[in-house]
Amino acid sequence: MELEFQCGDEICNIGGFASVIGADGTFSAVRNHIMRVERMNFQQVYIPHMYLELSIPASESNEFILHPNRLHIWPRGDFMLIALPNADKSFTSTLFAPASVFDELNTEESFMSFFSANFPDAVSLIGEARLKYIYHNYPRGSLVSIKCTPYNHKGKGIIIGDASHSQVPFYGQGMNAGFEDVKVLMHILETKKSLKDAYDLYTASRHKDLIAICDLSMANYDEMRRGVQDWHYLARRSLERILERVLKDRWLRLYTMVTFRPDIPYSLAYSTEKLHTKILSAVVNTAIAGASVAVVMKGLRLLNQRS
Ligand SMILES: Cc1cc2nc3c(=O)[nH]c(=O)nc-3n(C[C@H](O)[C@H](O)[C@H](O)COP(=O)(O)OP(=O)(O)OC[C@H]3O[C@@H](n4cnc5c(N)ncnc54)[C@H](O)[C@@H]3O)c2cc1C
Repeated sequence: MELEFQCGDEICNIGGFASVIGADGTFSAVRNHIMRVERMNFQQVYIPHMYLELSIPASESNEFILHPNRLHIWPRGDFMLIALPNADKSFTSTLFAPASVFDELNTEESFMSFFSANFPDAVSLIGEARLKYIYHNYPRGSLVSIKCTPYNHKGKGIIIGDASHSQVPFYGQGMNAGFEDVKVLMHILETKKSLKDAYDLYTASRHKDLIAICDLSMANYDEMRRGVQDWHYLARRSLERILERVLKDRWLRLYTMVTFRPDIPYSLAYSTEKLHTKILSAVVNTAIAGASVAVVMKGLRLLNQRS
């Protein structure tokens, strides 16, 4: 097998290989080649939202300007701004908005007034001059979810990372899932004699977790935009936080399982969350039914007392 690497505008490192591990990102050339020789199922979904990365600098005294241990979200219905802390005490902030909103932000004036109207506090955090620089220099990116299977063609080639599972970035797990791919593949390679057996086992065992994290990321896309403004959502999250504190390992929130527990596979986290949803719905329904019965009983008792 011959590979050509693109190095800037040049083609370099042409070489022959017995087997290729393609970690070449969302629009993977290795995946395209595997698709031609393997009966690969493939799904690609663009969401209506696009993104623009911004940055919030550290304060003049080199401190975090916002709380460093929080995910900051400015939800505005159909669009939102988020900020995540960096090691150098700055924040990476991202505007997620439908492509139609970005289309309207086609002059510096419209861009600046959009921010002043919707995120006035963020304008002062980012700084007007920096915001103008961002408008002129930072690219706007599309967001796509890609699922496929199998990930390999015999022992000749396999894809990992975004090449095999691009996800919308709302669970912050894209790169983590890619690192986990490497860990899982390395472990399997140590236990199997032939590359074909190893790659086949990787595809068979890894798929359910990669589908789960793609689906969880898509679900979080809706939740982050709408959920954080919905009292049902906020009440449920508060209740779960209490349950996690009281029941410890016996009740873990989805976010905890996905983000802080590498020992819990994505697919198990997802199925546990579905079970938790059923339990909480049953508890809430029972509580509502109990409260309704109590109100009716009280009403009947009052009527009896009057007659
Ligand atoms: C807005 C946004 C926010 C995100 N936030 C998070 C987060 O908080 N946490 C997280 O874990 N993930 C996050 N992600 C996802 C994360 O960025 C990706 O999952 C990760 O970068 C994927 O790594 P990768 O190595 O598989 O692919 P890539 O990072 O795309 O790397 C592929 C590499 O292959 C190179 N390449 C491709 N084709 C060729 C070729 N023909 N020749 C030579 N080189 C080639 C590319 O130049 C590139 O360097 C985010 C993504 C986005 C868009």
